[in-house]
Amino acid sequence: MSGALTDKIAIVTGASRGIGAAIATRLAAEGATVVVNYAGSEDAANAVVAAIQEAGGTAEAFQADISDPAQVKALFDHVLKAYERVDLLVNNAGIVKDTLILTMREADWQRVLDVNLSGIFHCTKAALRPMMRARAGKIVNLASISAIRGGRGQANYAAAKGGIVSFTRATALEVADRGIQVNAVLPGFIETDMTKVVQRRAGDQVLARIPAGRFGTPDDVAGIVAFLCTTDSDYVTGQAFSVDGGMSVA
Ligand code: NAP
Repeated sequence: MSGALTDKIAIVTGASRGIGAAIATRLAAEGATVVVNYAGSEDAANAVVAAIQEAGGTAEAFQADISDPAQVKALFDHVLKAYERVDLLVNNAGIVKDTLILTMREADWQRVLDVNLSGIFHCTKAALRPMMRARAGKIVNLASISAIRGGRGQANYAAAKGGIVSFTRATALEVADRGIQVNAVLPGFIETDMTKVVQRRAGDQVLARIPAGRFGTPDDVAGIVAFLCTTDSDYVTGQAFSVDGGMSVA
């Protein structure tokens, strides 16, 4: 697929680490100019940008907490000023604050909803104006297997991720006739910082539930996200794609 995204301007939220970094790297390898958004990991984001540039791609890092509408506005103002358009938005940034619901603090509930769900609303709204003017655009939202399978200690995360799938469908309908596609990707258990603790504590039990017999890698997710950013997926919208080694159908 090399070169499939030449001349495209892409924003990937939460691209300093893990799945977002793999997506940013992949989109850049396909020719896109990538804005690597991050919250706090400036060095990691700069390292992703440097690796992309060393490989011959184009990228820059931009700090913004996507749960804050003012910071999201600053991100999009910057991108529109620098590049005059946004072709691709990958809403990847996400956090976990896992705990059983009886011990879940209001703040744990609210922060996960603010980042994982409201953040996608803020970024999508900001991206849709220029995309509607261009009558073209692709938005890919990172949900999770937690959207469709229960997970103990994940009521806040599951609610946000389930919300993302519903948000994806509703948004896709509103903009389908403007040449914009909106889809969701639902990763299973992918080896990143987010899953490190669970892997250490209960890795064998998780692995036993994965028919493919291995944990996923960030690149496993980046491949389908890249497809959903190319014209090969122009007739695909409002869909939710599981990338989980068969975990959700076991
Ligand atoms: P990760 O390794 O923990 O990385 C999270 C990324 O999100 C980092 O780049 C982080 O930036 C960024 N971020 C966090 N809060 C942010 C905020 N308020 N504003 C902007 N950026 C923010 O996570 P991951 O495993 O790659 O997960 C990426 C996405 O896939 C998430 O939406 C996650 O829910 C989803 N997912 C992951 C798995 C899995 O097994 N790993 C499974 C299903 C779904 P900083 O580095 O600056 O903190």
